Amino acid sequence: MQTIKSPYNFRGGIHPAYNKKLSNGSAIESLPLPAVLSVPMSQHLGAPAKPCVKVGDEVKKGTLIGAQNGFISAPIHSPASGKVKVITDVATASGRPCQAIVIECDESNETEFLPPIENWQKSDKDDLLTRIGETGIVGMGGAGFPTKVKLSPPMDKPIDTVIINGAECEPYLTSDHRMMVEHAKEIRIGAEIIRSILGAKTLRIAIEDNKPDAIKAIEDAFQDIEGDVAIAVLHTVYPQGSEKQQIYAVTGREVPSGGLPMDVGCVVENTSTTFAIYEAVIKGLPLMQRVITVTGDAVQKPANLLAPFGTSYQDLIDACGGFTEDKPAKVISGGPMMGFAVSSLETPTGKTSSGLLLLSKKRVSQYSSQACIACGRCVEACPMNLIPSELSQFIEAEDIEGAEEIALMNCIECGSCAFVCPAHRPLVQHMRRGKAAVMAKRMAANAKG
Ligand code: SF4
Ligand code: SF4
Repeated sequence: MQTIKSPYNFRGGIHPAYNKKLSNGSAIESLPLPAVLSVPMSQHLGAPAKPCVKVGDEVKKGTLIGAQNGFISAPIHSPASGKVKVITDVATASGRPCQAIVIECDESNETEFLPPIENWQKSDKDDLLTRIGETGIVGMGGAGFPTKVKLSPPMDKPIDTVIINGAECEPYLTSDHRMMVEHAKEIRIGAEIIRSILGAKTLRIAIEDNKPDAIKAIEDAFQDIEGDVAIAVLHTVYPQGSEKQQIYAVTGREVPSGGLPMDVGCVVENTSTTFAIYEAVIKGLPLMQRVITVTGDAVQKPANLLAPFGTSYQDLIDACGGFTEDKPAKVISGGPMMGFAVSSLETPTGKTSSGLLLLSKKRVSQYSSQACIACGRCVEACPMNLIPSELSQFIEAEDIEGAEEIALMNCIECGSCAFVCPAHRPLVQHMRRGKAAVMAKRMAANAKG
């Protein structure tokens, strides 16, 4: 196993203030079990899970409470033992409502896990994939795509390279960083399981060069691994953690427009997802909890908390000593670049909740948007080779087809364009609105047949 400096740099990108020091030295702490968990049925991309318990049912930690409801979907398991209090609608971090099973937790800590897969190296690949599917594992880096589907590429798309994504390029967030420092050995086993399922020759662990302690921990844990394995040390630049940019940075391969990583023989998995695969196969654990970074200048004690899904943001904030002075001016689910501003502290966490950012008035800029001055900075910053100024003008004029023609759907919503825009144009909001309109149009066309 060797450590190599990546020779490739993707086009564009930005260098925001990373502000990771607030929490990158804080060891992972387990959140005390909340009295109540509101477990959303939609914590993934695709169809929400279907509740399979009813009010009054007793559940154990690990009991299936939401059944997978389609090919692109994932099951949901109870993160604690207790009783189902109510099944109701909640607002998720993205603002979309979904059903949630509200569990009154008890202290019995009774569990209902699957048996470990002994000697996984000799197991059938399909058995490993079944385990990853039945334990509800989805991409924990943000997209929430069901992992079983991602690890089942068609026969004509062989995968030769697995990349474990430890870049964590979003400012403020440190949950993946801490996972690498504290759970490198488990991540190694998870990575070996992924490589074995895909039959991939090459394994790379991609880490930005602003995380030397994570690089060291991974080097120690992987040192005697066999085959074509290396740590790819990447330049610190946002959005280095984005799949397509990372594949280029690590391999020099370009995912074609509208294509997927498998089109260039790659699969990228986040470090927390890789850890979840280890737990599912080696310990039989469903995905029920994750590490979330609670940070920002408006919270007393920034931390990396291991919290069960369905924990309210208020419970996370209380565990960090509450707010600093008065209420924060902005609460963001995720990081400042790709996260969503939330309006309620009752919002529950889920499988893709990597961070909760609380910013005081001092940190929140108030700008009014102005007309584009055609400076071209957004074009320089865009890592997808798009023309954000033109795209946003098409979308503002409701010319969605015009935006689609100049590759709107290639936008990864990274926010780099808005970050550099001197006219403070809400470019990402325009992209999100335009992409939603295209998707609605495509779904309507599909429904008509
Ligand atoms: S948000 Fe979209 S348009 Fe803007 S820089 Fe990122 S990829 Fe380009
Ligand atoms: S950065 Fe802003 S002002 Fe400059 S071209 Fe892009 S949208 Fe226009």
